[in-house]
Amino acid sequence: MIGVLALQGDADAHLAALAAAGLAARPVKGLADLAAVDGIVLPGGESTTQALLIEAAALREPLAAALAEGMPALGTCAGLILLARGIEGGRPDQWSFGVLDVDVRRNGFGRQVRSFEADLTVVGVDGGPMRAVFIRAPVVTRVGSSVDVVAQVAYQFADGSERTVPVVVRQGNVVATSFHPELLGDARLHVLAFARGGARREDISRHLVRHE
Ligand code: GLN
Repeated sequence: MIGVLALQGDADAHLAALAAAGLAARPVKGLADLAAVDGIVLPGGESTTQALLIEAAALREPLAAALAEGMPALGTCAGLILLARGIEGGRPDQWSFGVLDVDVRRNGFGRQVRSFEADLTVVGVDGGPMRAVFIRAPVVTRVGSSVDVVAQVAYQFADGSERTVPVVVRQGNVVATSFHPELLGDARLHVLAFARGGARREDISRHLVRHE
């Protein structure tokens, strides 16, 4: 059973994408929910607000423990920020779980008006390019040696410089994206994140058949 952290942000879009892909999932709002899942989605939204709500729900320590034990996780946008080791442009007291050895810059692609979409090639994901929606998205500014970059985008930043930056990264059981695959109902990264343990085997095999 996959859990979707449902304290703030677009948990519903993740639940819908997971359901459409035939993956069993439920919202996670508290400890009892967390105990019932073996994989976790950290959705997009507002990372500072989410961090506060995670603490208010008494989920910070249990989630940190679950991630440290290797619970499979998928973080999208704000979820990437919450998984990252270092945060630039956050509030001085902004914390993160730090289980993904990358640094990110909040809103690094620019503000809301610079939201954009792109078709990405994602290494190891079949079924053609992935349409990616970037909304006030974090930029990955450093990638640790044990982190794989599985997709990147060439982007012209507001200062005119064009750079190619990672937008899907993976370290062990943790997968994270700068963008929102769930908004277009694409669950292929959920499958990538959870195929090795989070989801029930029959769910995964059903999904893989659909994409072969
Ligand atoms: N800008 C948001 C943050 O810093 C993330 C935006 C998103 O999740 N779409 O938390």
